[in-house]
Amino acid sequence: MFDAAVCQCDLPEGLAEKIKVCNATYVTRFGVRLRGRMHTFTGWRSVHSSHNRPAKGGIRFAQDADQDEVEALAALMTYKCALMRLPFGGSKGALRIDPSEWSEVELEKITRRFAQELLAHEFLSSASNVPAPDMGTTELNMMWIADEYRRSRPQDVNALACVTGKPVGGGGIEGRTEATGRGVQFAMREFFRHESDRGRAGFRDESLAGLTCVIQGLGNVGYHAAKFLSEEDGVKIVTVIERTGVVRNADGIDIEALKTHLLKTGSVAGFAGGEISAPDMGALCDACDILIPAAAEGAITSENADGIRARLIVEAANGPVTKAADAILRERGVVIIPDLFANAGGVVVSYFEWVKNLSHIPFGLMERRLEEDEHRLLARSLEQMTGRTFPVENSRYLEGRSEITLVRSGLDDVMRAAYHRMTTLWNAGNGRYADLRTAAYAIAIDEVAEAYRAIGL
Ligand code: NAD
Repeated sequence: MFDAAVCQCDLPEGLAEKIKVCNATYVTRFGVRLRGRMHTFTGWRSVHSSHNRPAKGGIRFAQDADQDEVEALAALMTYKCALMRLPFGGSKGALRIDPSEWSEVELEKITRRFAQELLAHEFLSSASNVPAPDMGTTELNMMWIADEYRRSRPQDVNALACVTGKPVGGGGIEGRTEATGRGVQFAMREFFRHESDRGRAGFRDESLAGLTCVIQGLGNVGYHAAKFLSEEDGVKIVTVIERTGVVRNADGIDIEALKTHLLKTGSVAGFAGGEISAPDMGALCDACDILIPAAAEGAITSENADGIRARLIVEAANGPVTKAADAILRERGVVIIPDLFANAGGVVVSYFEWVKNLSHIPFGLMERRLEEDEHRLLARSLEQMTGRTFPVENSRYLEGRSEITLVRSGLDDVMRAAYHRMTTLWNAGNGRYADLRTAAYAIAIDEVAEAYRAIGL
């Protein structure tokens, strides 16, 4: 995917190779005494590019994690941050572990031990490398990492900025947990605002209301995307594919009810709000308008790409469509909103959290009351001038902006601006950019190259 785009970029000889390779990967094997014996765990932290510092990217806990995957995901982070114009290099980490096999107390011990390893080898700090949650990790893991760092470096006033995705009470930011799913929603809204783009996928209207959607994975990203799309945009989620089974309901699945059931029972079995069947990747080919893979890599391959019936695929997961499948789908006219844009909401809000931690002041603190006073003054003046009462339905205007409002607005802005860059290239490139992904990669590669040019390389 990099190669398909880089040939459209005008780079000095050798720079493409420099940008493409992963700078460094740290492998750690460490022991933790648990359940009466020593257990050895293997983990990785890759820095793909440090053209900007710190390098940024999630840490995943997964049984099938390996070095190749971590390096590929670190590369994706470089391009994602560059496309979104965030001042970060790209990084990624993983621990080979099935988190469901361990209790919370055990996971805390393992996470803290992993954090010590990263810290000791300079792969963790607000200035050099800042992790975030990913598959199999949550805000709790991030809090343990921050706490471990804080204990080891008590003099570092920016200790909390060594990791993002922390709980709000632990130095996090409102809206981080929902951010990736929220970003998926904003990405889709922006795509549908562009008549020529939605037209390529055969959609006439700007509104998403009534469109049907299949979603794979109801974890952090999938749940929030499905919830917002169904509750706020009127999208009908007709199929949810989870590890434990498939849920179908032609009238639309109640996502909140399904998530509550999943959290309570650990499985989709017994959920009353739809028809339940055994786990089946074939459900990715269910009839729908939009397919959102939000689980893991490689869900759509050359094996099933021909059977996909959606007209639009939104890559909420990282790398859910293989290169071979990508070509088949493009040939068939299926439009893909690529991962480096579609799921960038997480890292965008992580950026806000990092800035909040470094500035040591919550967003909106200095302006909120001032704004409220100014807006009330304006409303009172209008009332005096017109002799009419300021409408109650507009009372939101009278309130100062809260952190969550600012975060959502900032995220929307960054998503829209990045989409604008992508669609401009896609539509004005005289067919040189075969799809949104190629355009996105070309923009990202140019951004990274620009950083190298700026320092005279
Ligand atoms: P998560 O662990 O919270 O959720 C993953 C969900 O997918 C789980 O419910 C799991 O049961 C399900 N799942 C896993 N394999 C499956 C399969 N084969 N079939 C059906 N369901 C399956 O993870 P997440 O944080 O939601 O991440 C999901 C994807 O989004 C990953 O590719 C991740 O790299 C990407 N991503 C996450 C974030 C973030 O902020 N969490 C940001 C950007 C990208």
